[in-house]
Amino acid sequence: MRDTQFFRRWMAAAADVVRREAARLTELDSPIGDADHGSNLLRGFTAVESALASEPPATPGALLQLTGRTLISTVGGASGPLYGTLFRRAGKELGEAAEVSDEQLRAALQVGVDAVAQLGGAAPGDKTMLDALLPGVAALATSYRAAADAAEQGALATVPMQARKGRASYLGERSIGHQDPGATSSALLLGALADAAG
Ligand code: ADP
Ligand code: MG
Ligand code: MG
Repeated sequence: MRDTQFFRRWMAAAADVVRREAARLTELDSPIGDADHGSNLLRGFTAVESALASEPPATPGALLQLTGRTLISTVGGASGPLYGTLFRRAGKELGEAAEVSDEQLRAALQVGVDAVAQLGGAAPGDKTMLDALLPGVAALATSYRAAADAAEQGALATVPMQARKGRASYLGERSIGHQDPGATSSALLLGALADAAG
């Protein structure tokens, strides 16, 4: 079973990896976006760390919901509402349990990712974060590490895609040949989950 402390470790690992990779995420967002993805997430996950420290949530569900609300209010752009929805919706799904099983977490993240798809209207192959999140969450049925690996493969697979959603879609065919920043950060977030799971 996974307690609130586990989720706290996940968010600490997420903030760490965003700090380490912020420059690369912003660099990926420069040819096909507006060069702010890393700084957006850095601002967001720094705020998540502060929020979790100043009002420590009592349950995994409350922790994910606070994470989602904080991302929505601090990240902005396209990725803020999308990541915010992912965490809020997954947190809501976990309810008020003090501990959750790996299967409950998998199911909750699936609901969260489905909510991202609904909010953003993107389909697989549209060169968005969903191209990492969908295969990643599907592979959670195997293991946390398998999920991180599948998400990373999914992010790499966005390189030859033409973007059909978000800013990158304005470039049409010129979006081809670049890795999607949001898919890349999604893989990092699932990598942080695998790290927290040990
Ligand atoms: P912005 O594009 O507003 O500057 P960010 O740079 O923070 O926001 O995030 C860009 C990322 O958001 C993209 O790389 C893509 O993965 C994701 N994204 C954009 N639009 C959508 C959408 N409609 N559905 C899913 N993901 C999206
Ligand atoms: Mg951007
Ligand atoms: Mg922007």
